[in-house]
Formats: sequence, C-alpha cells, structure tokens
Amino acid sequence: MEEKSLNFLEEIIEADLKSGKHKTVHTRFPPEPNGYLHIGHAKSICLNFGLAIKYGGKCNLRFDDTNPTKEEVEYVESIREDVKWLGFQWDGEYFASDYFQQLYDWAIQLIKDEKAYVCDLTQEQISIYRGTPQTPGTESPYRDRSVEENLDLFERMKNGEFPDGTRVLRAKIDMASPNMQFRDPVLYRILHSEHHRTGNAWCIYPMYDYAHGQSDSIEKITHSICTLEFDVHRPLYDWLIEALNIFPSHQYEFARLNINYTIMSKRKLLQLVENNHVWGWDDPRMPTISGLRRRGYTPASLRLFAEKIGVSKRDNVIDVSLLEWCVREDLNQTAQRVMTVLNPLKVVITNYPETSTSLSHQSGSLSGVETTEPYTEYLDAINNPENPDAGTRKVPFSRELYIEREDFMEVPEKKFFRLAPGVEVRLRYAYYITCNEVIKDAEGNIVELRCTYDPQTKGGGSPDGRKVKATLHWVSANHAIDAEVRLFDRLFSVANPDDVEEGKTFIDNINPNSLQVLSNCKIEPFIKSTKPLDHFQFERLGYFTTDKDSKEGQLVFNRTVSLKDSK
Ligand code: ATP
Ligand code: MG
Repeated sequence: MEEKSLNFLEEIIEADLKSGKHKTVHTRFPPEPNGYLHIGHAKSICLNFGLAIKYGGKCNLRFDDTNPTKEEVEYVESIREDVKWLGFQWDGEYFASDYFQQLYDWAIQLIKDEKAYVCDLTQEQISIYRGTPQTPGTESPYRDRSVEENLDLFERMKNGEFPDGTRVLRAKIDMASPNMQFRDPVLYRILHSEHHRTGNAWCIYPMYDYAHGQSDSIEKITHSICTLEFDVHRPLYDWLIEALNIFPSHQYEFARLNINYTIMSKRKLLQLVENNHVWGWDDPRMPTISGLRRRGYTPASLRLFAEKIGVSKRDNVIDVSLLEWCVREDLNQTAQRVMTVLNPLKVVITNYPETSTSLSHQSGSLSGVETTEPYTEYLDAINNPENPDAGTRKVPFSRELYIEREDFMEVPEKKFFRLAPGVEVRLRYAYYITCNEVIKDAEGNIVELRCTYDPQTKGGGSPDGRKVKATLHWVSANHAIDAEVRLFDRLFSVANPDDVEEGKTFIDNINPNSLQVLSNCKIEPFIKSTKPLDHFQFERLGYFTTDKDSKEGQLVFNRTVSLKDSK
C-alpha cells in the first residue's frame, strides 16, 4: 500500500514529537466572531482538528473576540454550529476576552521590565514616525517615560480617564528594525465601547499581535497554525512570548484557500448580506459553511475538499469545479434517486387503460358505490445504484404523465435522439413509448403529446431486442406533487471578483443571473414528507436538497450541483 506523504506541518509535528520538544499536539481554531465561517475557515478547521486527531492531541475552539465593535453573539453561535456540523468536537472552548485580566497583568510586567510604554502620539503620527521599510523610523518623544509614569498612565487608561485614540501602550523594541512589526508595535488601544461578553468592564483592548500569541500560550498550544500573511508577525509573536517568559507556543503559516469566482473576506460577505445582494449569510450561493450546507453540500464533501487541496506554503487559486467534484463524489454514494420534471410537458398514453373501477367497502360489506381512479401500476425503481442496500421503491405509472419539455422536439435537430414525432424512447423503469401526435394551443405552443406504449416492454426492455436511443425520466400526472426548484449559477461572473477597474468594486462583478426559480415542477410522491437538508439525485438533472422554506404541500428544493461539470 502506498504511504501518503506528509504535509509540511505533519513533518514538523512528527519531528517535534520525536525530538521530545513536545509530548503532545495541541492546536486551536481561533475565529474572530465578526461573521459566519466560510469555506476558507473549513480548510483551517479540517487542518487544526485533523492534526489533533491524527496525533492523538487536542484542539481548542477559541473566539478571538478582542475587537468589541464588530462582534456579535449570533456569530459565536453560528461558528459553534458550523464546526460541529463539519464533524469536529473541540476540547476546550475559550474566549480571548476571558484573558483580558491576564493580558493586562502581563502588560504591567512588560512596563516594569521597560519593554513597554504609554505613547501619546496620534495614530497618524505613529504611522509617520514608523518610517518605511527603506528608511528607519523615529523614536516617539514618549519612549523614555519612567516606569512609574507608564504604570500610572496605563492604569488611568484602563480606568477610563482618557478618550478614545488619545494614548496607546506600545512595546519598546527597535524603531530601526528592518521588520516593521518591531518598530514599537501598539499593544493596547483605548476604545470606550461595549463588549459582547465583558460589557463595560474594559475600555482598553489588546491588539491582535498582543492577544493572539499570549492566548496560545495560556492554552499551551504547541502548534499555532495561521495563514501566510502572518509570517511577518512571527518574530513579534516570539518576542512577546520570550519577553514574558511564558509557555513557548510557536506559529506556523500555511497558504490560505482561494477559490475562483468566489469572495472569501468576511467584510465583503457582510456587505453582500447587508446590501441584500443575497438572502442572508446562508444564501445557497454564499461560500459560507451555512450557505454551502443549505445548498446541499455535506460535511464529508467539505472534508474531502480540504483533503484534496492539501496544505502548502505557497498561495494559489483552486478551481471551484474541484469543490463541485467533491460533493458529487459524496452524493453519488449516498443520495436517494427520484424522478422530477422541472419543466413539465404532458404526455397521454392513448392505449393505456384509463380508469380502474372498484367497489368501495363499507362496514365490511360491499355497498355498491363505485369509485373511479386512474388506472395505476406501481413500478420498481432503484433508490441508489451505487448502494444495493438502499433498495427499491414503487413509482406510480398511469395514462397521463409529465416529461421534461427539453426532451421533446417537434422537428428534431441533428443528433437529437430523444422524443419526437414517430420516435420511440424508453421511460425509465416503465415502457417504450412512441409519439404519434402533437397538440398545440391557439398560439401554437405545444401543450400535450399523444403517445402509445408497448406493453411488452414493461421494466424498460424489449423482448424482440428492439433498441431505443434515449431513456427519459417522467412522473405520473395524477400522482405527482408540485414543487419549487431553485437553480443556482456562480455568484460572480468573473474568475477573480476583486479584479476591478478604477471606480468599481467586487459588487459590480456580481452575476445578475445567479438564481433561476422554477415554480411548476412535478415530483414523484415518494418524497412528499421530505425535511430540510435531505439529499436527492433528481435523475438526469443533478443533486438537490430540500430547502428550509419547504413545507409539506409546498416543497422547495435547491440544486446543489449538476450531474456533470458543464463549464
Ligand atoms: P476574513 O479575512 O475572511 O475575515 P480572517 O482570517 O480574518 O478571515 P478569522 O476569523 O480571523 O478570519 O480566522 C480564523 C482562522 O481561519 C484563522 O486561523 C485564519 O487563518 C483561518 N482562515 C481564514 N480565512 C482562511 C482561508 N481563506 N483559508 C484558510 N484559512 C483561513
Ligand atoms: Mg480576522
């Protein structure tokens, strides 16, 4: 058996375990609760939880909630739901805000060690003083404040004596460092704003660089995995841990997931939601985990996708067709097959029995009252050819049927082998039929086909070996249930939605035809009590899932993906 080669993170971990640097692996997934998770987060989740599982370690869920203005409880709940749905259970659940007191105490330690100071420069001044990568920065005039003065000012910052933006706490490192992150980075800012968990207890909030590594260290994270753009922050991550002499967590960077035709920044996804370009965070066209779920993606399909894309140290763009391939792979194995007609055209089988007359029973004796129902045969249909255990079901067949309008052409084009006048085709699981007559309305629209069937071909084969060139799906008109079906196209019409001309934004790249609603679809009665998130293959049409808008009697389905890649 071929051994799968290790990715670079697995190599690091195996070396660390072997050398004894770490006895166990402890990772974390650290979302900022400022939006719903997207497919990029799914990659990070599969990676962090996957490594912990593979090496018998632990993985925490940590809400990186150090930014009070953008975070909401709704997001926290959705994040928990999405991680669980993907199939992972975290060991510890933490909030960076739970560490505010510890972080504050450590800041005091840095001041006492003359490694941090309170600076009164404005934000603009700080950025000018910082210099450029080519030119060294200028030291702040407040850099040499005494420890006592710094302690006093920092405490008063915390006590709310100063307005927003008037003072910050900065690390005292090196204003001439070639690494811009080392030019006295800001550790704390004043923000008089209510926090979703700590309320008004704090009016100073730690910056990402100060909170993140310290939180890792508090949780004894061994391998802190983040995306590539943070590699320039790593020296500062190490510097702070060393300055505080705390548990030596280490940061490792991997390439973030990019997918063509897809936007992945939470800020931009929020814009789509707030400006009603989509129905919400869980719109089936959104790349959010909740959107993909509503679209019919399965946890297994997203985990398979994460496995296929792998982990690398170089940025690239994944073709969206790979994601679609993954969900087809999974649903092909698992989805219940049914027959659905999206765009119905009536077919009447003129030589098929019209009604079956039965005498109804009343209190055990024949009452003599006749009831008339369409003559119906119940034909065996296969639930999933990939899975014999899925068994068969009965599909009603009667004199009046619906077929797909696109499966008929009055004057067939070259290479059109489906139904046409005088042509014989197979109805799946049923009979061969031949079209004899085309009925039109006053405007010339085709409204009905008159066909005959060959009773000898029941089950779909002909005893005389006669071949047909097409097999069509169908539903019995009298037994069918009505449904709405939504077909989706890409939300953006260009491969890179962020690639815009001057004066335009990614919003201008939205595909105006990303949604098509078909409201007159006919489905076999088998699935009348379907529940949201059930998965089906509508034969010949693709994979579909029941939408949350669906109710018994008013079914609604979303197309997850077509059966084949058409682009
Ligand atoms: P966004 O820019 O979409 O807001 P973010 O990185 O700010 O993303 P966080 O909530 O801070 O979002 O991220 C939580 C974790 O998910 C981080 O470890 C981050 O590196 C990872 N992550 C975010 N986006 C991606 C992506 N596209 N590919 C892989 N990992 C990602
Ligand atoms: Mg972020």
